[in-house]
Amino acid sequence: MGNKSRAFELITEDEMIRIGRFAKDKQTPFLAIDLNKVGQRYDELAAQMPGAKIYFAVKANPLDEVLKLLADRGSCFDVASRYEIDQVLALGVPPERLSYGNTIKKERDIAYAYEKGIRLYSTDSLSDVQKIARVAPGSMLNFRLLLDGAGADWPLSKKFGAHPDMVYKLVKSAKKLGLDPYGVSFHVGSQQRDIGQWDNAIALVKYLFDALKEDGIRLRCINLGGGFPAQYLKPTLGMSTYTQSIIQYLKEDFPDDDLEIITEPGRSLVADSGIIVAEVVLISKKSDTNRTRWVYLDIGKFSGLIETSDEAIKYPFIFPGHEGRGEWSEAILAGPTCDSADILYEDYKYMVPNTLKEGEHVYILTTGAYTMSYSAISFNGFPPLQAYILK
Ligand SMILES: *Cc1c(COP(=O)(O)O)cnc(C)c1O
Repeated sequence: MGNKSRAFELITEDEMIRIGRFAKDKQTPFLAIDLNKVGQRYDELAAQMPGAKIYFAVKANPLDEVLKLLADRGSCFDVASRYEIDQVLALGVPPERLSYGNTIKKERDIAYAYEKGIRLYSTDSLSDVQKIARVAPGSMLNFRLLLDGAGADWPLSKKFGAHPDMVYKLVKSAKKLGLDPYGVSFHVGSQQRDIGQWDNAIALVKYLFDALKEDGIRLRCINLGGGFPAQYLKPTLGMSTYTQSIIQYLKEDFPDDDLEIITEPGRSLVADSGIIVAEVVLISKKSDTNRTRWVYLDIGKFSGLIETSDEAIKYPFIFPGHEGRGEWSEAILAGPTCDSADILYEDYKYMVPNTLKEGEHVYILTTGAYTMSYSAISFNGFPPLQAYILK
């Protein structure tokens, strides 16, 4: 029975009825977002880390309704492009609540952000620091540390951040160029399962703060990034275990400092709020003697489930009407497009009811993060993933 009961732990009877009703008059696949859950997650984090500012990573779920709800609660936003800047500002969020957190920026986009009033930027290279100094003079900088992403289901390793010695040099260059070195940022990797990774990162930050203090530069912010958990197939510790541990690490390394703390949650605020409803398109076998069924859905890697790459993120699946009934067996789950990469799970075998039929609905849980924002716009002509606010 494997994952079956785990998936069912993550949805209530009422939610099953609600999503079933909601799906009745809709084309699949679609994503339904329960805004109440997003609000709950935000409130939990805000209560657990009372001094910290929350910058929601817009890329995780850029639905206007989600951004608006968070904005109304006082959230700040981590934006990565001029398009995200435009979207968030258009919702009436003041520019002081935005951080341009992408370290990969065109100079004209930095100029654009500055013109719009954004004064907080993340950086990890000399060239980027110089660009910011030219077109966003005096701005505040968070310097991103390179981490290896160990322990994360979806690591962001290598691409972002600089070695601590490099960060040290960047801070000094920035100061010379008239910028305001504000703090150090890092990201331990998304869906990080090893809380100790924050301990390592904070120790590195401490080392940098101390080294710079000797040079008369006092950094005053630690940006703890994202990486906080959502509930997928494999259970994780709860959010409060993460925040309590992190607060402890901060106390140990910075006992007396009056620091500003930033968190940049993406996944942990929105993932659990989303359910994708998909339809079974085809069930087949590759030969008479092969026992494993292939179950093809109308959603795949290119319509929102790209985080199934390398089977990194294992979404919980619900087969409505089959729970607790009949025989189940292992199956390979795949998407509908004509690309051989469009297989969701092959090595990890999901248990699927033997009586599952083509045309039936499948619920894919914990899909509120990194789904609609990753969906291709017309691969094989399939439209991008439709998203609704669950009513
Ligand atoms: C994507 C991203 C986040 C969000 O990470 P999660 O693991 O989804 O919480 C935070 N900060 C930055 C800079 C990011 O790129």
